[in-house]
Amino acid sequence: MLNVPGSEPSSPICSAKGCRADAVWVLAWNNPSLHTPERRKTWLACEEHREHLSGFLGVRGFLKDVVPLSEWEAPDAP
Ligand SMILES: [Zn+2]
Repeated sequence: MLNVPGSEPSSPICSAKGCRADAVWVLAWNNPSLHTPERRKTWLACEEHREHLSGFLGVRGFLKDVVPLSEWEAPDAP
């Protein structure tokens, strides 16, 4: 599953600052000045913060994909 510090794999929580809601969305992103093009960083978002977080990434051109958590498969999962 996702490797997110401070959260249990079985109940991932939103990545928004101070939010403890269950994550519903996975935001896959890449910062071209830090990461190789195929690299994907992920943020988790609850329903409330999906727009806020995707907007934050989108305005910087980092956002690659928004996927429901239930459909997300980490690229390096076994
Ligand atoms: Zn949230």
